[in-house]
Amino acid sequence: MKSGKTTKRSIIAKAKSLGASLVNFAPVSRWEEFGEVLPEYRPKALWDKAETVIVIAVPMLLPVLESTPSINYQEMYNATNSLLDQIGFRLSVWLNDRGHASIFMPRDGYGNLEILLNKYQGCFSHVFAAKYAGQGTIAYSHNLITPEYGPRVRMVSILTSLKIAGDPLIEKDVCTKCEVCRKLCPSSSFTTRPDSIIAEMDVDACTRYHQVLRGENRWPCGICCKVCPVGGDRKLYESTNIGRYLREREVLDENPEDENYRSWVHQRQHGSSGNRIY
Ligand code: SF4
Ligand code: SF4
Repeated sequence: MKSGKTTKRSIIAKAKSLGASLVNFAPVSRWEEFGEVLPEYRPKALWDKAETVIVIAVPMLLPVLESTPSINYQEMYNATNSLLDQIGFRLSVWLNDRGHASIFMPRDGYGNLEILLNKYQGCFSHVFAAKYAGQGTIAYSHNLITPEYGPRVRMVSILTSLKIAGDPLIEKDVCTKCEVCRKLCPSSSFTTRPDSIIAEMDVDACTRYHQVLRGENRWPCGICCKVCPVGGDRKLYESTNIGRYLREREVLDENPEDENYRSWVHQRQHGSSGNRIY
């Protein structure tokens, strides 16, 4: 057992040394306070020693995501998944070594696309955990949306017996309800609800589109994450022209070799059996 006090600061430093970009903390009481998540999906129900949930996020790199559907996005997505599992496992062991019993909820718990068609959710929601940890808010598109990366993040959650003060919640919705994601969703999965910022979502339609992409060896889709105008990463990559996404299909139908889309089309034509250029 390692000596020395385990503080929020030391956990953040350790998580970042393992590759985390965002590290936020939610006391398990927030699940009870909000009452949005069914009781059997709450941290205490999954593990009765849980006192705090540490939510780790890593970004999806915008220019790679912009090439979706492509082998390159698929590989980056897989890289984020294995990194998150590594961080979740290694941070749990690091906390255990300091005398704080900890486990992690792997970043996906839905099994595969066929299982997802029958059971539409995983056993634990990292999106709600991230909301309760003050990492972001829940967007129209059902994704977590963050000020830093918009919805271009992937998350994992560590449940620990250590009590740590929670981070402040983000009170104002980060999503602007611009509905660009609805307009460009290839499976038309979103329907606007007048009484909520979060859309009605046809999970089956989204999943069936993913089955097509998987058959072409270029999945997931990720277009609702790609096109969202929110996120500081847009400034970094100087990619703020959302009209480029809105015009993409029309321009490529007219001219598949349009120079504004050449790089994305190139990436879509390699490593995949799909012939579509968008
Ligand atoms: S594209 Fe617009 S509506 Fe969709 S998640 Fe982003 S901000 Fe919200
Ligand atoms: S992942 Fe693709 S198909 Fe699914 S909701 Fe988002 S844009 Fe639509």
